[in-house]
Amino acid sequence: MAAGNNERFDAVVIGAGAGGLCATARLAHAGFSTLLLESLDRLGGRASSEEIEGFKVNIGAIALEPGGVFEETFALVGERLDIRVPDLPFAFYLDRKVVDVSRGGWSMLLGGLTKQAAKILERIAEARKGNLPDGRQSTAEWLSQYTSNETVHAIFRNLCAAIFACNATELPAPAFLTYFTKKGAFKRFGFCPRGTIGAWEDLAAGARRHGADIRLSTPVRSILIEDGRARGVVVRQGDKDAKIDAGVVISNAGPKHTLALGGAQNFPAEYARLVREKLKPAANIVINFASREPLLEAPGLVTFGKTRRLCNMANLTASCPELAPEGWNLYVAYAVPIPALGDFDAETETQHALADLREQFPGFDKAKLLSVRVMRGDWPTQRSCAGFDLPRETGVDGLWCVGDAVKEYGNGGTQACAETAKLVVDQVVAARVTA
Ligand SMILES: Cc1cc2nc3c(=O)[nH]c(=O)nc-3n(C[C@H](O)[C@H](O)[C@H](O)COP(=O)(O)OP(=O)(O)OC[C@H]3O[C@@H](n4cnc5c(N)ncnc54)[C@H](O)[C@@H]3O)c2cc1C
Repeated sequence: MAAGNNERFDAVVIGAGAGGLCATARLAHAGFSTLLLESLDRLGGRASSEEIEGFKVNIGAIALEPGGVFEETFALVGERLDIRVPDLPFAFYLDRKVVDVSRGGWSMLLGGLTKQAAKILERIAEARKGNLPDGRQSTAEWLSQYTSNETVHAIFRNLCAAIFACNATELPAPAFLTYFTKKGAFKRFGFCPRGTIGAWEDLAAGARRHGADIRLSTPVRSILIEDGRARGVVVRQGDKDAKIDAGVVISNAGPKHTLALGGAQNFPAEYARLVREKLKPAANIVINFASREPLLEAPGLVTFGKTRRLCNMANLTASCPELAPEGWNLYVAYAVPIPALGDFDAETETQHALADLREQFPGFDKAKLLSVRVMRGDWPTQRSCAGFDLPRETGVDGLWCVGDAVKEYGNGGTQACAETAKLVVDQVVAARVTA
């Protein structure tokens, strides 16, 4: 590629989602001249926020986990993770009652529901030691070996739905057990009082202080690949295309879009096949609503028992009242369709979710419905469900993917995306050191 008057950076990152922002912060901190290009006019991708009638409404992630690689990334660029941890972060909501399991955990929950609790707890303990079931077994199949109790099955389905945006019949059992025994599992989390976008604005500010150039409303049109090596990108700037040279390109656009941006013919055939055949995007339905009357006493996230589709719900203003105009309580409820990894009728599935909300909260019909968003297709809840992730390497030298289609096995959420960024940037830095 003719260098000419092209702009030049050590690294270009495509997309300012969780993975792209964390990669940018880490690259800038490591001393790479880094350009982050985002096609939208805001940061955060599927974990961003918008303003609706004076309410700060989150599009995707709300619960941000302190600690781990995620918070470490903020600290690297000198930023504090601005979250408020609710007094009771996590509870179940069974028969319209809040069930606090924060002290007794799994044994307290299962002990009251099934005589088979001991067997299930034994298997969970085995998983903790690394003894996992066969990967072909779904979480529902695994559980059915020990109990047929409907409430227990409903709770497991809603945990799968709340964390992985899929049904227990769709999630490989080892992925479920890995997450709950070895990963964060949202034991602790908080909400950002400025909406989740506030956390990304802080991370971007830290990255900029370390020299990163972050440009919004600048879509990448193509990735330049020559002789099996990434050479840079072409961007749309105003009404013109411009080439930008870089030896490292990190894509947060998801493997499918990355393949299209680079041209499938420029990737190894096996990688193109994996992108076509292995990815399993997961869907959910997000219902943001507000009520003058409090509808839920628990201040954090609750997971439901027997429902049609509703899986969990957050009471945002209990800890972050500034998310809503005075006198209002802001909630977000999540429902997972059946199937979540295949095609479904969005209208029917949404109606099931709304029926669940009416049933669980008699005051729901008086609430103000702010938005109902079906996350699917090219803007899903997870670009690939846990257990169906692709490698971060694309088979093209200098080109990696980050984000929620290339997670470590059994991981989930923004923490998992931050981890993908660390793993890729560690490789990039190691390659520079040895070059
Ligand atoms: C409803 C919902 C609730 C969730 N709840 C939680 C939660 O509570 N806690 C949690 O930790 N996680 C949660 N998650 C998961 C989490 O939000 C996602 O896994 C994560 O945000 C995905 O980040 P990502 O790195 O894959 O990037 P993405 O969010 O996919 O961002 C990619 C960015 O790339 C940009 N882009 C794409 N193509 C181009 C291009 N050609 N040029 C320039 N830019 C481009 C896009 O515009 C986008 O901004 C939730 C997700 C959803 C949808």
